[in-house]
Amino acid sequence: MRILLVEDDRALGLGVQHALEREGWRVDLLADGEQAMSEGLLGHHDLAILDLGLPRRNGLDVLRHWRSHGAHMPVMLLTARDELNDRVQGLDAGADDYLVKPFDVPELLARLRALKRRAAGRLAETLSLGELELDLTHRELRHRGERVSLSPRELALTELLMDKAGRVVPKDSIVARLSSWESDFSENSVEVYVHRLRKRFAELGVVIKTVRGFGYVMEAAEGSGPAP
Ligand code: CA
Repeated sequence: MRILLVEDDRALGLGVQHALEREGWRVDLLADGEQAMSEGLLGHHDLAILDLGLPRRNGLDVLRHWRSHGAHMPVMLLTARDELNDRVQGLDAGADDYLVKPFDVPELLARLRALKRRAAGRLAETLSLGELELDLTHRELRHRGERVSLSPRELALTELLMDKAGRVVPKDSIVARLSSWESDFSENSVEVYVHRLRKRFAELGVVIKTVRGFGYVMEAAEGSGPAP
């Protein structure tokens, strides 16, 4: 767990840094808004703690910059008592929580653990179709809870089709998405893989239909549904 801590009050910054490090978290401490803007976009951090009053660029500017440039890590704002308006704007700008100074370190730690749990929940995504479930976090396909073993390329194709279940996925978009696996991946290779998956899925209540000259659509077979 790596945390970006942006706080220009040196004593407070170091105190929080040490407390977090005692919890086993790795902390990068910055005291400058402008530096924080670029640092937060590197994708190195699981979570950020952001003071609102910062030199050069204030915390709100930093947060808006992160969110508008695709940085989605959970953000905890640190605010002074008289910054109510900024706090509201901060939450509107995409902050996940805030603490008013002075705060107790145990409360900060508890709130950060809650943020981390919520972020982990967002990542635990699954795709479902009939009795099949694709766990995107663990890259695993299951049928009624039993693991279905597939090659990485079969799994990638399954994900493409399941993600758009019931809708047609064009053959050329499948070629484009799977080509990184094999330089000579062609429309013929797609046919071979679809043929294989059809055989694997025949007993699992899912069908892959061909839309001639266009692509494929994956759907639950007639009469199949989630296990009772
Ligand atoms: Ca400050």
